[in-house]
Amino acid sequence: MSGRVHTKTIPPHERISGFAPYVSNLDDRLAVYEASRCLMCFDAPCISACPAGINIPEFIYRIKTGNFYGAAKVIRESNILGGECGYVCPVERLCESKCVRRNLNEEPVAISMLQRFAYEKEKLKGLVKFPKSRSKDKKVAVVGAGPAGLSAAYELARMGYSVTVFDANPRPGGLLLYGILPWKAPWSVPESEIDLIKEYGINFVTNRKITDLKPLLKEYDAVFVGVGATKSQKLGIPGEELNGVYPAQEFLQSVAKWLMGEGKAPDLKGKRVAVIGGGDTAIDAACASVRLGAERVYIVYRRSFAEMPAVPYGRNQAREEGVEFLLLTAPVRIIGDKSVKAIECVKMELTEPDSSGRRGVRSIKGSEFRLDVDSVIVAIGQKPDEDLLKSYGVKTEKGLIVVDENFSTSIKGIFAGGDAVNGGETVVEAVAEGKKAAAAIDKFLSGGKSSKK
Ligand SMILES: Cc1cc2nc3c(=O)[nH]c(=O)nc-3n(C[C@H](O)[C@H](O)[C@H](O)COP(=O)(O)OP(=O)(O)OC[C@H]3O[C@@H](n4cnc5c(N)ncnc54)[C@H](O)[C@@H]3O)c2cc1C
Ligand code: SF4
Repeated sequence: MSGRVHTKTIPPHERISGFAPYVSNLDDRLAVYEASRCLMCFDAPCISACPAGINIPEFIYRIKTGNFYGAAKVIRESNILGGECGYVCPVERLCESKCVRRNLNEEPVAISMLQRFAYEKEKLKGLVKFPKSRSKDKKVAVVGAGPAGLSAAYELARMGYSVTVFDANPRPGGLLLYGILPWKAPWSVPESEIDLIKEYGINFVTNRKITDLKPLLKEYDAVFVGVGATKSQKLGIPGEELNGVYPAQEFLQSVAKWLMGEGKAPDLKGKRVAVIGGGDTAIDAACASVRLGAERVYIVYRRSFAEMPAVPYGRNQAREEGVEFLLLTAPVRIIGDKSVKAIECVKMELTEPDSSGRRGVRSIKGSEFRLDVDSVIVAIGQKPDEDLLKSYGVKTEKGLIVVDENFSTSIKGIFAGGDAVNGGETVVEAVAEGKKAAAAIDKFLSGGKSSKK
């Protein structure tokens, strides 16, 4: 064997009958082989490209030498959701994009597959638990149990703080459970990591929506806000109120809940669905529609593939599963009486790049056409709940919480991170921000000195 290892995948026509993962994991022999492709670079660029700063060559070296549990330890030390990130990180944009193997015109080391492998080995022995520091007499409240909140809570609990996490949902996990569907990562992965986090003595209060931070500030010494960006942006075109139009986040959340046995998923059997947008969420919504039995699924995107933010891996998945891409196309209005019947679209053309290097688009006069569909899923971006942030009283800009370099908000004692601050990035980004904020909270509570773990 030479070159990067490739694992087996379930053929598209079989995998779309369910929501299960369709990429198989590495076995011991393939993992050791792939690990041996790592050049163990000095100043490894893959580390700087990992928001959690995992020592990638170190964990890969341990796999190469058969120390699989040791590899997992290296990952977990830097990233408490390292198993989940092994499954869902967009590595084509992160660590693997900087792998030195690329400079040799070769495929990058399969870092995420190796990270998954280490997690699967770790699970067999029990997830790695690090010792906690002595208890401190300070209490921290964390609002939101998504990756940002979980990471902040874990770091603070490890430092010895008494931590309570509040979440509006019945289960902690945020988008790990209520957004990222199991074909990307089986839910057993985040669930096992949340169970590990619980072992640090954190108090979880679920089904509790926090709409006012003042009472928390009275009871706790500091507050971390990680409420995510849960509101899908609107298209702002006529017909958006019709039955059959779904904001992508709500659509994916209802599919997730249905898979959990709560409520119903939209009935798309035999329907024609148009997903508007070109990001990873649009791809997920399209692939979920295919799995719900839709007859035809289109992705309508106003730019071309070159500008599309979705990772190529996801685009290939969608294409393999029969999703049709209508590029350089924008919706003008949604047509219907009570329910969606069609969308009127217009063809677009790219303009010269602006000062940021991004090409704009303009519509081509007279190119309007009708696309008959029964449902429209709007996936053009997410924002935090503006009313919620207003009631928190923290300073916001463009709908996002403003923080300084310490993730401190405009209100003393309130810190924030994750999608509510960055506008919607990745799981690993949220973990990294939760971690940094926890370090800043520790400094704030210990009068400028940080505690040692
Ligand atoms: C469909 C979809 C697919 C994605 N796929 C990927 C992927 O494959 N890889 C990747 O890296 N990233 C992916 N992302 C992005 C990633 O999920 C997010 O960046 C990440 O979850 C952000 O973490 P967070 O903790 O900031 O927010 P969230 O995960 O959104 O968690 C916020 C939590 O706060 C809670 N909350 C909100 N308001 C309140 C309140 N008032 N009181 C109490 N609790 C509250 C919510 O219930 C939720 O549990 C995806 C996102 C979406 C929408
Ligand atoms: S850049 Fe690639 S080859 Fe170098 S240490 Fe990282 S994974 Fe290994």
